[in-house]
Amino acid sequence: MLTRRDVLRSAAAAAVSAPVLFATARAEDPKPAGFTLPKLPYDYAALEPSIDAETMTIHHTKHHQAYVTNLNAALTKDAPDLLKKPIEAILTDLKGVPEAARTAVRNNGGGHWNHTFFWGVMAPTGKGGEPKGDLLKAIEASFKSVDEMKKAFNDAATKRFGSGWAWLVPGKEKPLAITSTANQDNPQMEGGPAPILGVDVWEHAYYLKYKNLRAKYLEEWWKVVNWEAVAAGFAKK
Ligand code: MN
Repeated sequence: MLTRRDVLRSAAAAAVSAPVLFATARAEDPKPAGFTLPKLPYDYAALEPSIDAETMTIHHTKHHQAYVTNLNAALTKDAPDLLKKPIEAILTDLKGVPEAARTAVRNNGGGHWNHTFFWGVMAPTGKGGEPKGDLLKAIEASFKSVDEMKKAFNDAATKRFGSGWAWLVPGKEKPLAITSTANQDNPQMEGGPAPILGVDVWEHAYYLKYKNLRAKYLEEWWKVVNWEAVAAGFAKK
């Protein structure tokens, strides 16, 4: 038969493990309105030595965060209905954004999409793999070889005057094509296809480590491309 002391003792034992139960039972905080900074899919130092941890930290927590903050501010002020829309739906229909917010949404919404995409097409050093299968066939059919594709891509990235991006996209005449955009634009804004690979050539992406040497940054960046993610993007087209 249980004594009062036994009951108290077992209650005390239960209390030790209780915090886990209480923590999981607590209601989730409501999701804040608008867009949020996604977590990086790897550590800030994971792309070393190609991309240094300090650059990654500032790029993610300051630059990308600013695009998210400014996008939310512009939409909250002039187009609160759009806070609930997926970012792709907003960027592929910029004419549907009220004029007062359109430039801010183009720049900051573009910045949010581009950076989210960019983090995903990179992988920790040594983990990125190589192009293979259907993706490799498409690269060879479009550019003859992976090296020739890289050359053409680097050319577009190097010649982008000022700040912008270079992209590998599904093509019209050939399976794949290369293009480049200024600022935080991307091909989808002009009715083009969603890219399957892209590189940020804003100076904030490389200046701390590579100073003015954009070509050196590009050479190193290829070492951290996530070819599985690129292949997955290509398979969706
Ligand atoms: Mn950037």
